[in-house]
Amino acid sequence: MKGAHHALCGAAAWVAVASTAPLTLGWYPVGPLGVVAGALVCAGAALAPDADHHDATIAHSLPPVSQWVCDAVGAVSGGHRNGTHSVLGVAALVGIAWAAGKVTATTSALGDLAVGAGATSLLLVAFAARALGLGRGRLQAWALAVALAGFVTVVAPTGWDWLPVAVGTGAAVHVLGDMLTGGGVPLLWPWEPRPPRWWTRTPGLRDVWTRGGNFAVPLLGTTGSRRERLVAVPLTAYATYGVVVALAAGTLTSLGYDADAVLARVVEAATTALGTTAAVGAVVLQQPVTG
Ligand SMILES: [Zn+2]
Repeated sequence: MKGAHHALCGAAAWVAVASTAPLTLGWYPVGPLGVVAGALVCAGAALAPDADHHDATIAHSLPPVSQWVCDAVGAVSGGHRNGTHSVLGVAALVGIAWAAGKVTATTSALGDLAVGAGATSLLLVAFAARALGLGRGRLQAWALAVALAGFVTVVAPTGWDWLPVAVGTGAAVHVLGDMLTGGGVPLLWPWEPRPPRWWTRTPGLRDVWTRGGNFAVPLLGTTGSRRERLVAVPLTAYATYGVVVALAAGTLTSLGYDADAVLARVVEAATTALGTTAAVGAVVLQQPVTG
């Protein structure tokens, strides 16, 4: 799967998991700031497994730091599409995010600062910005990442509880995304069981459990296929919807409104309008064609 599509999957997954707006799952509810910042962090985490590849787009996202990180991850995980694309790799990323969240610093001017969480999200936001084309040059990439990470670090130093959840969600979504495109992933790394010979000779089966010991459900065809690009369209719409609703809810709350009640009324009105349009459309279509 392509980088931008990975990032979009991550943002959409975070909206589904963390938002409580209509059309979301709300499994891990966080406030509006957590939805918006988390969507960017989760989009970045959905690229993190490809940090095992020093030529990857994200290696150039926050130079020279991102280059060092990618070199180190590649050395530890055994190269591209290896350790980071497994259950163990996802667990390791969650562990790193959790440990980073514990690193804080107390300053006299600004109070407690979530330095570890800020630094982690700095890198992840830079990954997302690069893949989504939000910051072109080196300076823009640093500016955007520092602005968001700095904002949450200073404004909401206790608002980072969701970081390991966002990193785990993003990394898991990446591995699933690569499983959906051909080639598959070594899900059980470092254990890479090879299928028996009769399996590798059977069309269909050998695409699901490959000769190299990878697992796949190649519904989307090859990386960057037409199907993959088609799937990206509703994902983009969904991620945008979640972030816009969170921004609206945050603004309404800060202005003193009951955001949930206002949004529920907007959704009710939209649903009624859609229902009416559908009913009118059905009646029109049933009219006999005259003339
Ligand atoms: Zn990958």
